[in-house]
Amino acid sequence: MPYAYDDQNIFARILRGEIPNKTVLETEHCLAFHDIRAQAPTHVLVIPRGAYVNFDHFIAEASDAEILDFNRAVAKVGEMLDLLPGTGGEGYRLIANSGPHSHQEVPHLHFHVLAGRPLGAMLVGPA
Ligand code: AMP
Repeated sequence: MPYAYDDQNIFARILRGEIPNKTVLETEHCLAFHDIRAQAPTHVLVIPRGAYVNFDHFIAEASDAEILDFNRAVAKVGEMLDLLPGTGGEGYRLIANSGPHSHQEVPHLHFHVLAGRPLGAMLVGPA
């Protein structure tokens, strides 16, 4: 089974209300909240409510409505926090880790929205 989902992961527990979070946005299919160990002045996580391990799982099995809502939620967070360069914001970076080489720690799909300072080069270290 390529996409075995662990329903005890920390984001599943947040979605069930077992662990508190600092909510930024709630939509029908998504939740956005502040990362507990912020790596930039703005560090928000956007997660689907559905049980998806990572982005490829989500794209393979989520409904069109979930995929649309997720993308709109990510964009809405940028809008709410005045990050959008097209409307005077200073921009942001999206990161979605998937699998061991990416250093994914929590096995529930999440996009990191990072912003609030110059974020530097995309990766450090050799190719
Ligand atoms: P990743 O390495 O891409 O799986 O990122 C997981 C992120 O989840 C890290 O940036 C953690 O700081 C964050 N995180 C872990 N537990 C919590 C929590 N309870 N509330 C908010 N963010 C969390």
